Amino acid sequence: MPVKIAVNGYGTIGKRIVDAVLSNKDFRLVGIAKYRVDYSAYLAARKGIPIYVPRERASEFREAGLEPHGYVDYLFEEADLIYDASPGGKGAGNKKIYESYGKPGVFQGGEEPGVAELSYSTLCNFEEALNKKYVRVVSCNTTGMLRLLCTLHREYGVKRALSVIIRRAADPKEDQRGPVNSILLDPPSIPSHHGLDARTVAPWLDIVTAAAVVPTTLMHMQFIEVELSTQVNRGDVVELLDGINRFLLVESASTGIDSTSKVMELARDSGRPRGDIYENIVFIDSLSINASRLYLFQGIHQESIVIPENIDVAYAMLGIESDPLKVMERVDSTLGIGG
Ligand code: NAD
Repeated sequence: MPVKIAVNGYGTIGKRIVDAVLSNKDFRLVGIAKYRVDYSAYLAARKGIPIYVPRERASEFREAGLEPHGYVDYLFEEADLIYDASPGGKGAGNKKIYESYGKPGVFQGGEEPGVAELSYSTLCNFEEALNKKYVRVVSCNTTGMLRLLCTLHREYGVKRALSVIIRRAADPKEDQRGPVNSILLDPPSIPSHHGLDARTVAPWLDIVTAAAVVPTTLMHMQFIEVELSTQVNRGDVVELLDGINRFLLVESASTGIDSTSKVMELARDSGRPRGDIYENIVFIDSLSINASRLYLFQGIHQESIVIPENIDVAYAMLGIESDPLKVMERVDSTLGIGG
């Protein structure tokens, strides 16, 4: 029997979780909670997605020609698992509602770690999420770093890491955010919060992160330096990453792809929905090894990178499948990753 899913919040992350759920036969979407009438409500209605609204907002939706499927309390009552995709910081308040219905929930990286029993990233701690009731999938940059660092740690041991993050200023729809013509140190101090966030998942990780925001909306770029416990061979590292679908290795010399804009064009030309790229884009020409030190650049598509982990974690929390490799294989095939 498919697991019944509710998605609370239908913005950048919520709408992508919805599409991932709709494409996966292990799940059935009960519906979404919408709080405002906007274009995405009309599009969801046109796609046949059941829209649930707060009681006090129902008349606004009706006046706009959108008959709600029901009230949000029905949605939560009906679901086996609730995805919280609300704006960062609202999840803690929402959790009280989920608890009142006795329903498990998946939170996003904009929440404080304390909102959940566990901060999560599949390649690091899938097993810890088994049968947990509340889990937080870490943010886009942290997910990208952790995929890489946990993979390297498992194979070679990671002694320490440095990540310099060139952050996108805003998502493409966020026309009110900046900077427009500046490079903003965000935060001005070192370390940035990203390393601390990574340690909520991987407490063994000795990492320093620094971040600056640049005027782009497409992707983040991370420069990563890792000191491994052993000397490694570049070819072995390439083979290791190439063997895991969550990494997409891009060779700039032969493809001409040496920027985030060209990566996005590749995704659009490949027919990826919305031009989404769920994988870490590893710019393979940048992967350099000096004895036990490894250096590389990787691109992170902030809007979509956390979607696979959001779906993976449901398999663990609900005890559907306990083998992370089988889960990733299933989720990757439904999202069109790898292959
Ligand atoms: P968003 O602003 O695009 O969407 C949030 C949606 O939640 C909106 O549709 C809003 O109307 C709705 N909403 C408002 N109040 C609500 C409430 N009380 N309960 C439920 N929904 C409510 O935000 P987003 O970018 O999708 O971010 C959602 C979460 O995902 C945040 O924690 C964020 O930090 C995290 N995240 C975002 C990105 C990204 O790049 N956008 C990447 C990774 C993680």
